[in-house]
Amino acid sequence: MSTSPSAPDGPPSPLLRKALLFMSSSPRLGRWISGSRLAWRAAGRFVAGERIEDAVRVLKALGEQGMRASLDHLGENVSRLEEARQAADAYLEAIAAIRREGLRSGVSLKLTALGMDLGDEVAEAQLRRILAAAAEAEPVPFVRIDMEGSAYTERTLAIFQRVRADYPRVGVVIQAYLFRSAGDIERLIAQGSGPRLCKGAYLEPPEIAWPAKADVDASYRRLSERLLAPEALTAGLYPALATHDPVIIDHVKQWVRARGISPDAFEFQMLHGVRRDLQQALVRDGYRVRVYVPYGKQWYPYFMRRLAERPENLTFILRSLFHEGRAR
Ligand SMILES: Cc1cc2nc3c(=O)[nH]c(=O)nc-3n(C[C@H](O)[C@H](O)[C@H](O)COP(=O)(O)OP(=O)(O)OC[C@H]3O[C@@H](n4cnc5c(N)ncnc54)[C@H](O)[C@@H]3O)c2cc1C
Repeated sequence: MSTSPSAPDGPPSPLLRKALLFMSSSPRLGRWISGSRLAWRAAGRFVAGERIEDAVRVLKALGEQGMRASLDHLGENVSRLEEARQAADAYLEAIAAIRREGLRSGVSLKLTALGMDLGDEVAEAQLRRILAAAAEAEPVPFVRIDMEGSAYTERTLAIFQRVRADYPRVGVVIQAYLFRSAGDIERLIAQGSGPRLCKGAYLEPPEIAWPAKADVDASYRRLSERLLAPEALTAGLYPALATHDPVIIDHVKQWVRARGISPDAFEFQMLHGVRRDLQQALVRDGYRVRVYVPYGKQWYPYFMRRLAERPENLTFILRSLFHEGRAR
C-alpha cells in the first residue's frame, strides 16, 4: 500500500487520509482549531456560515442557478440531552426558514447530533420532533438521515425503519465502502425507498470496508447501477447519487442515456464548495443537482473529513494561511 503524498488530483494518500480522519474525532484538537479565526476562514469554503441567515443566502443563490439543496446544521456526538434538544431546535428553525422563504430545500441530519450516544430513544424522539414539523410544511421538505461511522450503521437503519412507518418523506444514506451495503440497498429497493449513495467518509477497518479506493469506486458503480435498474425506478425509487467523481458521473450519464431513463428520475448530490463547475455543468445538461449546505458553529469534524478527501485542499489552505501570516 502506497503511503506517499498524493499526486495533484490523484487519490489521497491512505496515511494522510487516516491521520486527518483520526484528527477529525479528537475533541481537544477540535476545541483548539475551532478557536482559530484563520481556520474558520479556511473552513468557510465548505460551510455556508454560522447562522441560518447565512445558509438561506446560499440556498437562494443555488435556487437561482436551478439547484436544490439540503440544509445541514453542523454538529455530532453530543453528550448532553440539552445539546440534543438544541440541535433539534436548530432544525425546527431551518424548516421554518425553508417554509417562510419558499426554498427548494430539504434537511440532512446526523443522529449523533440528536443524542444517539445517550440512547437510540433519545435520538429518535428528537428526530420525530423534526419530522412532525416537516410534515406540517407545504411542500413537505425531505428529511435525510446522514450515515456516520460503522458503530452507528445498524442503529441508524433501525431508527430510519421505525420513523419511516409514520413519515414517508424521510430517507437514509448508504456508504459504498461498506461490504454490507449491497444487502442494505436490496432491502431499500424492496421498500421503494431511494437512498443517498455516497462512498463513505469515516475511518473503517478492513474487516468491514474496502480499504482501496479502486474497490470503493467499483462498489459505488455497482450500487448506482442497481439503484438505476428499471425495476427499481418503476417501483418508485428516487435515488440520490452523491459524488464529485467525474468518472462515475460520466458512467451514470451514459448508463441512463443508454436505457432511456429520464434525468428527473434521480438526482446528483454534491457538497457546498466542492466542484461548483461540475454542479453547474450538470444543471446545464438537464440533470437534477442537490447541494448539501452545512452551517453552524460545530464545523471542525466536517471540515477535517473534507480535507481527508482531498489533501490538496490542505496544501492550499496551509499555503494561504502561511502567506497571510507573513503579510501581517
Ligand atoms: C451530498 C453528499 C452527502 C454526503 N453524505 C455523507 C454521509 O451521510 N455519510 C458519509 O459517510 N459520507 C457522506 N458524504 C461524503 C462521501 O462519502 C465522500 O467522502 C465524498 O463525497 C468524497 O467522495 P467522492 O464521491 O466525491 O469522490 P472522490 O473519489 O473522493 O473524489 C473525486 C473527485 O471529487 C473531487 N473532490 C472530492 N472531495 C473533494 C473535496 N473535499 N474538496 C475538493 N474536491 C473534492 C476531486 O476532484 C476528486 O478528484 C457525502 C457526500 C456528498 C456529496
